Amino acid sequence: MISYRFRILLPVLFALAAAGGAQSQTPPKALTVLHAARLLDIESGRVLTPGEVLVNGDRIVEAGSTVKRPAGAVIIDLGDRMLLPGLIDAHIHLFLHPGAEDLQTVLESVPQRTIMATVAARDDLMAGFTAERDMGTEGAGSADTAVRDAITRGDIPGPRLRISGNAINILGGHEDAIGFNPAQRVLPNADFANNADQLIEVMREQFKQGSDFAKIYETGTDSVENGRLSTPYQYTESELSAAVREAARVGKHVAVHATGDPGALYAAHAGVASIDHSFQLGDETMRVMHEKHIFAVPTFTIQEYFAAHPLTPGGGPKEQAILDLHVQNFRKQLAAGVPIAMGSDVGPFPHGTQARELELMVKFGMTPLGALQADLINGAKLLDWEGQIGALKPGYFADIVAVPGNPLNDITTLQHVEFVMKGGTVYKKP
Ligand SMILES: [Zn+2]
Repeated sequence: MISYRFRILLPVLFALAAAGGAQSQTPPKALTVLHAARLLDIESGRVLTPGEVLVNGDRIVEAGSTVKRPAGAVIIDLGDRMLLPGLIDAHIHLFLHPGAEDLQTVLESVPQRTIMATVAARDDLMAGFTAERDMGTEGAGSADTAVRDAITRGDIPGPRLRISGNAINILGGHEDAIGFNPAQRVLPNADFANNADQLIEVMREQFKQGSDFAKIYETGTDSVENGRLSTPYQYTESELSAAVREAARVGKHVAVHATGDPGALYAAHAGVASIDHSFQLGDETMRVMHEKHIFAVPTFTIQEYFAAHPLTPGGGPKEQAILDLHVQNFRKQLAAGVPIAMGSDVGPFPHGTQARELELMVKFGMTPLGALQADLINGAKLLDWEGQIGALKPGYFADIVAVPGNPLNDITTLQHVEFVMKGGTVYKKP
């Protein structure tokens, strides 16, 4: 009786185990052919009809109108959709969510925030973002190291990540929990460094804890008068140069939060990798950014969100005024040849909704192809994955999404990603 039952049960158990494994992870070296009505060649801007990609394990083998169909390959027919590279967001905050903002360090424990960050990572991936640069845990220290590593191991779903740990800030600077009773010692959102030596020491500590690059607050707080942005710099050009040299020593880079001059100019001269926000840049700053190929990361979506949902009562008009002058300056940045990368600053607004940024980049002066090239080609460079992500080419990671319609005709279709593959694993299917 017992042996009879085992003969029945064992094959069933093996089948269940195999099914469970297949759900969570594509087996290594699995051959997959993706077929769809259209495929975007991001470099040329050409649309291939139909489009196909052959994937082996985590890499692309071939992409074109038709590809080889090796025996045993799984064919996924995505019908009337367009295949394109997985989207890239170069400015995100997995450890932020709508609501708490400045008091998050007081109201929420780091373990709680880390769990929420894993949910945010999943939401971003399901929206089609297969690679992201996290621009600061905002007071959760190096907890992002664990999130990045769990994603890399395949333990949890999420984009491939570059992370900074906490951002770095001067005492009394932009993210130093200003506006509370000083005696309360409200935990700041950033690590402190007040001079070049301290910058280097903080960066070494962060690198030791796992960060891929350093994020430095270079300006703030912003005010607007007569169409001009006024924002105090936080570090001198020589202090930022010391930080850039220290990062370069170990093959890393520095990215700054800088909304305007003179801080943005100091950062450009120092040779940072990106100037995030870039609300109002002077001619000399734009010239240096063009010359040194320093990316501006506009983050329009967060500004639009804060104009509609101000952090302080009555703060909406100021946020709108900043957005208005940014839109004017953005056209000058484009004309001056400042390289642009896409970054939404998602976190304070809901994760998974940030393809809105591409819509705003088009609304404010870019072509749809230009916005997508900024996202994919420039994003891959800024995230130090050039030649590995951002295009559908042999040898690249199989980070592939599919959308209905054609984003070159309607950029908002990127807000409706229906298929997501990252590193050859399918995470979302129509
Ligand atoms: Zn940010």
